[in-house]
Amino acid sequence: QIQLPKTILGHPNSLFVLFFTEMWERFSYYGMRALLVLFLISETAKGGWGWSRADATSLYGLYTMLVYFTPILGGYLADRYLGTRRAVVLGGFIIAAGHVSLFFETVPSFYLGLALVIAGTGLFKPNISAIVGQLYNKDNEGARDGGYTLFYMGVNAGAFFGISLCGYIGEKVSWNLGFGLAGVFMILGALQFFFSQGIFGDIGAAPKREQQAAQPVDDTPAHVVADRLKAIFVFAFFTIFFWFAFEQAGGSMTIFAADYTDRTLVGTSGLIFKVVNSLMTVIPAAILTWLLWQLHRSTGSSQLTGNLLLVLAFALIWGLVIWMLGREFAMAQSEVPATWFGVLNSFFLVILAPMFSKMWEKHWNPSGPVKFGVGLVLLGLGFAALAYGAAGIPSGAKTAQISMLFLCLAYLLHTMGELCVSPVGLSYISKLAPARLLGLMFGVWFLNSAVANFIGGKTGSYIDYISTTYSMSTFFLIFTFIPAVAGVVLMLLTPWMTKKMHGVH
Ligand code: GLN
Repeated sequence: QIQLPKTILGHPNSLFVLFFTEMWERFSYYGMRALLVLFLISETAKGGWGWSRADATSLYGLYTMLVYFTPILGGYLADRYLGTRRAVVLGGFIIAAGHVSLFFETVPSFYLGLALVIAGTGLFKPNISAIVGQLYNKDNEGARDGGYTLFYMGVNAGAFFGISLCGYIGEKVSWNLGFGLAGVFMILGALQFFFSQGIFGDIGAAPKREQQAAQPVDDTPAHVVADRLKAIFVFAFFTIFFWFAFEQAGGSMTIFAADYTDRTLVGTSGLIFKVVNSLMTVIPAAILTWLLWQLHRSTGSSQLTGNLLLVLAFALIWGLVIWMLGREFAMAQSEVPATWFGVLNSFFLVILAPMFSKMWEKHWNPSGPVKFGVGLVLLGLGFAALAYGAAGIPSGAKTAQISMLFLCLAYLLHTMGELCVSPVGLSYISKLAPARLLGLMFGVWFLNSAVANFIGGKTGSYIDYISTTYSMSTFFLIFTFIPAVAGVVLMLLTPWMTKKMHGVH
């Protein structure tokens, strides 16, 4: 009998089954999201629906809000009836059905598609996040934050490929092919999870079976449970500031890239860009191939079916991305397309996640509120870089030629901030929530994004107004201060939070 390695990078190999499942789900989510507004506002002659930008962005806002609202229902259903694993399978197939429905592009099938993705995500997202935490116990507790960070790398590997591939195919080939592609990969992701489930044993089974399976009785005193729930709400509350500024950033930074940034490839910045660019898809793809190979090796033949599908799908997508991006850049030698900046966040995240994962495990692991605080301040610093770069733009100017390095620096700082907040947040929910409310509390956590998207939709993008009345820099300075102040306040709350967390580090 050959002894198979049961860990990869010091984490249970089952983490990587979740990694790839989440990767394909996020591939479909972000891929479709990248198309949604473009499709709605594109002229009917070009296959779109010819909506106004205002209508399209308000539907987009409603959609992204609802996607993060339903997890509270999905989490509850899993805790009470389904178990986290069945919820993930069910959610995955409902999301896939949603994308297939979008593919048909008729009015009823389009709205049905959106509704199915919203419902499916509610079942899928909180519960897959919960299973990650269930892989860690007192024997490997120290690896938990790092494990969530690697899982989050899967989130962004999916976002990276989804945005580049579905976005590209939707815009350049046909909208429904872009939507359909999101569906195909979601089906593959759900299938590989379904077939690989044996690896989880009783983890994530329906509530009754899990209780029978000699789970330690949860004897945490009621007041400790109540305190820890308070800590969860405080984390979720402060994260609203993070996603609010982060999402506003997304919108305004795209405008900044298109209108105010010098994107011509000359001089030093041009050289750096060409080099980074010719590496752009190869690095994430190489990391993923290596992980897939490790997963394949360590799970052995019983999980072969699921993993084989993955390898095939992956080879296909990798080839396509490299071929298409290569062609795009061969054609646009002299200027970086403005849309290119949209994938920088997920690109940096895939590159930095392994380092952060190691850092939390081995080198620097301050308490939760400190990590969150640092993350919020980093987000503010990203905007400070933009404020500094934009300082020379006269108020009301329609165009400018600011170096794109400021934009890259901003994305880098934002991504580092995100790594201190978002995966760390998931990890703290899993540590603080009582087992019987695990799914529900992940639902509460994702509410932060629903609220942030709601506020973002209400305040709109003020970039035009503020940059004409005051200046572009003023706009970015506002977003420097909002997260930075929130971060400092949270750090000041550290002693209070430490008390409420009762020993959870
Ligand atoms: N990028 C993260 C994800 O899709 C963000 C989630 C969130 O809470 N907004 O998982």
